[in-house]
Amino acid sequence: MKLVTRSQTSAILRKFGFRVSRDLGQNFLVDENILKKILDASELKPDEIVLEIGTGIGTLTEALAKRVRKVITIEIDKRLVPILSETLLDLTNVQMLSADALRLEPAQTDATWSSITKIVANLPYGVAAPVLIKYFSDFKNIKTMVVMVQREIGERILAEPGSKNYSAFTAKLRYFCQGKKLSSVSRHSFLPEPNIDSMVIKLTRWEKPPVEVGRERLFQLITAGFSQRRKQLVNSVGSVMPQIDKGAIESALDELGKSRKIRAENLTLQDFAGLIEKLDG
Ligand code: SAM
Repeated sequence: MKLVTRSQTSAILRKFGFRVSRDLGQNFLVDENILKKILDASELKPDEIVLEIGTGIGTLTEALAKRVRKVITIEIDKRLVPILSETLLDLTNVQMLSADALRLEPAQTDATWSSITKIVANLPYGVAAPVLIKYFSDFKNIKTMVVMVQREIGERILAEPGSKNYSAFTAKLRYFCQGKKLSSVSRHSFLPEPNIDSMVIKLTRWEKPPVEVGRERLFQLITAGFSQRRKQLVNSVGSVMPQIDKGAIESALDELGKSRKIRAENLTLQDFAGLIEKLDG
């Protein structure tokens, strides 16, 4: 079966009387050119095991399963199980997990997971950002992700300090990986069409983290710094982490050669790391 066409996808949804859930970001890919770009960028090897998040009706799963040894795919919506039992019927190398990808813990996975180095996915819009952070953080073997995300998330992934899209999420994700835009994707490539366009992005984990401070404290500081984006760092951090003295933040900024009036949006990951080193040092 070739699922990635408008006619095939709508025929399947009609056959099963399936009502898509917008809350779950159920926008199924119906553009073969985009599917091909995702597959090419994923540099799939016949002997590898790939993880997919958000199976949908199995469009990407099917294409991946034809190219790799095994696909493990996670889908939260149990209503899709009868559909997937039909669309993926002929594929013996697909393992479906009925679960919330955000709640899956490494302890719940089996030994096969240690050989997964790649995620390839058309991510559900609502949870794309936390999914990216979680899987880089919890699953250390994952080195590459080729993912479809909504354009706004893509812009946040690629943003540089000082730009309007630079956020706590940008800085945290940069701790794990570098991102590269592969393609813009029109909303017309999906059924049903979302209200926004998308982007395919490749994320590659750094060989080693670009900064050497403890991640937990670093992420606390980043979250606090961006808690009130328009405020100066000293004030936004002070309101969330009252145990950190305002004067100590100012001295740390002085030592780093930064203005005392600087905002979080103007600090690189390295700046945040430098600050936490001085504050905790
Ligand atoms: N892979 C399919 C495709 O390319 O057409 C479907 C992609 S669709 C954008 C995202 C899928 O993720 C939906 O099927 C949705 O039900 C599922 N989903 C949403 N939230 C999820 C979560 N927290 N965990 C696992 N799957 C989720």
